[in-house]
Amino acid sequence: MSRVYNFSAGPAVLPEEVLKEAQEEMLDYRGCGMSVMEMSHRSKVFQNIIDEAEADLRDLMGIPSNYKVLFLQGGASLQFSMIPMNLMKNGVADYIVTGQWAKKAYAEAQKYGKANKIASSEDKTFSYIPDCSDLAISPDADYVYICENNTIYGTKYKKLPNTKGKTLVADVSSCFLSEPVNVSDYGIIYGGVQKNIGPAGMVISIIRDDLITDDVLPGTPTMMKFKTHADAGSLYNTPNCYCIYMCGKVFKWLKKMGGLEVMKQRNEEKAKLLYDFLDQSKLFKGTVVPEDRSLMNVPFITGNADLDAKFVKESKEAGLENLKGHRTVGGMRASIYNAMPKKGVETLVAFMKKFEEENL
Ligand SMILES: *Cc1c(COP(=O)(O)O)cnc(C)c1O
Repeated sequence: MSRVYNFSAGPAVLPEEVLKEAQEEMLDYRGCGMSVMEMSHRSKVFQNIIDEAEADLRDLMGIPSNYKVLFLQGGASLQFSMIPMNLMKNGVADYIVTGQWAKKAYAEAQKYGKANKIASSEDKTFSYIPDCSDLAISPDADYVYICENNTIYGTKYKKLPNTKGKTLVADVSSCFLSEPVNVSDYGIIYGGVQKNIGPAGMVISIIRDDLITDDVLPGTPTMMKFKTHADAGSLYNTPNCYCIYMCGKVFKWLKKMGGLEVMKQRNEEKAKLLYDFLDQSKLFKGTVVPEDRSLMNVPFITGNADLDAKFVKESKEAGLENLKGHRTVGGMRASIYNAMPKKGVETLVAFMKKFEEENL
């Protein structure tokens, strides 16, 4: 068996240890005689799995007791509608558009009320984060929405926007658990798990209690109400049981590694290796302004589409997979999530050096 270094933006690399553990438990989960995939979500065994996953996540992130943790389906994209349906009591929300995902969320919210674009970085292909220290926040805004780490463009908010007292809602799909956060700064902090946590097919939404009410937009389906899932402990209907189990294993792995402070250090070290190389390279160039660079997603280009294509092809042959950039940016993108070992980034940088020597 030979595993590649997988730089995919998502679904993405998982810790090898976690995959092996899941393999060992595949046919017989701890003496149950069945796989977690085959087990009732109403069973005591599964209840333990979901309870432990939630407790470990609360521990890792320091989630205060006045926040609910919901394990939901429909990915991050369904939250684009669930958020306005549950939160737009005044029918107004402010969106900061820093990439495709924020843009999609903003477009979706327009179906349910007045969504205002209060800042954007689209003028420069989303290569920076706009100044959010003194935005024209709408006086009656129900919330201010951001995408905290922009998976496609490789930017990250280094400071949260000044929402002037309004509820902040953040999509953290691609930076979830990459560093410590102060959950109390947010009304909702949510993300699809397939980037930095587990397999695809689930979103974790961490929501302050006062935002979970029956007062939702008329016609909101039962399944789209936060309260439905909060009241049922994420077991209103059959959840993505196997994904919850895998995420739970990743939470334990993160705790064993030392928690989010340690992950932040590791992620900074890995990102520095790559950015330092890009900053002195004569062939490759990062596409993001240095002050807004993401620790997780690193887009870069040579400036020559043929050379980019050659790089992607040859890197794949060298066991470095999924380095092709998003179609809207071109070039390359290395996603270096928690589970990407430092060795993977070192191998990538060594390959880039060699490619530069051969092609400059
Ligand atoms: C991948 C991604 C999404 C979409 O996630 P799905 O689970 O496929 O709906 C949304 N937001 C961000 C920031 C992402 O990276």
